[in-house]
Amino acid sequence: MERELTDRREFLKTGLAAAVAAPAVHRLRTRVRGVVAAPGDPQYDEGRAAWNLAVDQKPALTVMAEVEDDIVAAVDYARERQLGVAVQATGHGVTVPANGGVLIQTGAMRQVRVDPTQRRVTVQPGAMWCDVLPLTQAAGLAPLSASSSGMGVVGYTLGGGSGWLGRKYGFAADHVTGARLVTPDGRVLRVDANENPDPFWGLRGGTSNFGIVTELEFRVFPDSMVYGGGIYWPIVRAREVATVYREFGAFELPPAQRPVFLDEACQGREELRAAVESLLSSHDEASEFLETPAASLGPASSIAASGETPAEDWTGTGTGSSCSARKPPGGPRLPP
Ligand SMILES: Cc1cc2nc3c(=O)[nH]c(=O)nc-3n(C[C@H](O)[C@H](O)[C@H](O)COP(=O)(O)OP(=O)(O)OC[C@H]3O[C@@H](n4cnc5c(N)ncnc54)[C@H](O)[C@@H]3O)c2cc1C
Repeated sequence: MERELTDRREFLKTGLAAAVAAPAVHRLRTRVRGVVAAPGDPQYDEGRAAWNLAVDQKPALTVMAEVEDDIVAAVDYARERQLGVAVQATGHGVTVPANGGVLIQTGAMRQVRVDPTQRRVTVQPGAMWCDVLPLTQAAGLAPLSASSSGMGVVGYTLGGGSGWLGRKYGFAADHVTGARLVTPDGRVLRVDANENPDPFWGLRGGTSNFGIVTELEFRVFPDSMVYGGGIYWPIVRAREVATVYREFGAFELPPAQRPVFLDEACQGREELRAAVESLLSSHDEASEFLETPAASLGPASSIAASGETPAEDWTGTGTGSSCSARKPPGGPRLPP
């Protein structure tokens, strides 16, 4: 009986809250071009879904933004009601569920523009690496992309971004040249080294703590063809592999030529393996890496090496490559 009363009270409270909120949600819908979905709406589940299936988030509202103004409207709505705001492109990085707040999904905003002369790329906030790579490859360029092409460019880059070409060029965040940002008070700012330099500094590593990025601009590099490979041994040989790696002088090599040593690299495949993996941009660097450790350790359990390969292919096969599922017809391109 007591339980029934509590349930009824909860039901009335929730129903009342929804009735009070309904006109405000309706007003928000008239401001937003994308879908605004509340619990019970048909697109609510789609709007709250994340790539990381371990997180089951239950926001008060999800706003599936299509244009920058949608993001401004969602931020205004949340601020006026003192609700939290979360932003998500793919949901690869979600660890804390956006419960009770406004979840802004940017997955429909995926346009990409490449400027080959300046070696710059500009993306909308929902772009994934698979949207960028074919365009940079066609221009003879490579971005500092993630291990997986299904990762969101903005979330990855703002969090630091450590990719295959990182040993040569560093973190992706260090090559951001500018952004458009919706601040918590709903203003839209251009941020770069000269204009609003403080939020520009904070963004590069601070992810969403300074606002929501609606456009990100960053440098790309002329390493569109790469050499790479991985050499794998059974995990029981990990100590030996690590010793050879150290004696090989890997730590003394310039960072760009240093193979990555990853112990327990291939968890989840048929066995746990010790691995040395690398991606390099010249044949000489590649042969030194691919041949020397193998020669001194004797036969490896397997070698996955590529000759000269388009950089695009290295990122194309990672886990979470769900690009085709979300690719809008016509391909993602901003007008020049
Ligand atoms: C399978 C897998 C492989 C990975 N590989 C790599 C790798 O090779 N190198 C590496 O460095 N990291 C890697 N990561 C970590 C990854 O970079 C982070 O999880 C990153 O946050 C994912 O960004 P996203 O946009 O895809 O995810 P989302 O979950 O959509 O976003 C993650 C966070 O980024 C912020 N964010 C997203 N969009 C915006 C925006 N428009 N404005 C402001 N902030 C925003 C928010 O804080 C959000 O919570 C990997 C993760 C996974 C799951």
